[in-house]
Amino acid sequence: ACSCAFALATPVAMLASIGAAAKKGLLIKGGRYIEARALADVLLVDKTGTLTLGTPRLTDVLGLGQRSRDELLALAAAAESDSEHPLAEAVRRAARERGLTVPAPTRFAAMPGHGVDAAVGGVRVSVGSARLLREAPPAEAEKLASQGKTLLFVLLDGVLEGVLAAADTVRPEVPTALAQVRELGVRQIELLTGDNERAAAALAGELGIAYRANLLPEDKLAAVKAYQAQGRKVVMVGDGVNDAPALVQADVGVA
Ligand code: ADP
Ligand code: MG
Repeated sequence: ACSCAFALATPVAMLASIGAAAKKGLLIKGGRYIEARALADVLLVDKTGTLTLGTPRLTDVLGLGQRSRDELLALAAAAESDSEHPLAEAVRRAARERGLTVPAPTRFAAMPGHGVDAAVGGVRVSVGSARLLREAPPAEAEKLASQGKTLLFVLLDGVLEGVLAAADTVRPEVPTALAQVRELGVRQIELLTGDNERAAAALAGELGIAYRANLLPEDKLAAVKAYQAQGRKVVMVGDGVNDAPALVQADVGVA
């Protein structure tokens, strides 16, 4: 009553593929994602933790006010105590390595895509991207950014008092993976990141892909929708935290 090739072969191939992927540690939610992947011609990728190993190291601590660098680092680490962001771990690790005493915050709020805001011993401590600033970043910060580093601005009671810089390592498998993705017919590969323009340009240049910087989670979502509005099928690869809206909107979301 039916064509066996269609009615049997297709679902069996899908099941076998999903089973084979599971053995390699890849969980695929259903056959339609395999089909959608085959039709996709746009790949959007997050930076931190996706193209990079996600274990950034703190490279610089810059004091701009009266506080010593150790005081600044201890306050920043305190504010980052409860953040799950890879940059937060870099700040905590740097404070640990310098043997600093890190007080516990009395209040903590994460600001997805740009930083944290906490109360530490009566001081309001905010740590995050240039979005926290009302003024232009200081010249010293520009110098660190030109080295492709991620900048974390430290504000105490709303005043810019320090800049931390972090560097991350590109995952060694990324250049090969991107070449394979191009061979699969994906023509547009674009980095979508919340990081600063310089850091994004440095990495995108190294990998030969397009980029957009200073994006909030909702901007990544809008970028996915804009491609879809042009009739393109989109694969988005990101971490599950900040990128969740874009991952859900994409035709295939890879976490
Ligand atoms: P990406 O898109 O590269 O994954 P995110 O959206 O997670 O980056 O973060 C964007 C930027 O916001 C970071 O480069 C950093 O400057 C700032 N940021 C985000 N979370 C934190 C945090 N917990 N502490 C300090 N800065 C943060
Ligand atoms: Mg990320």
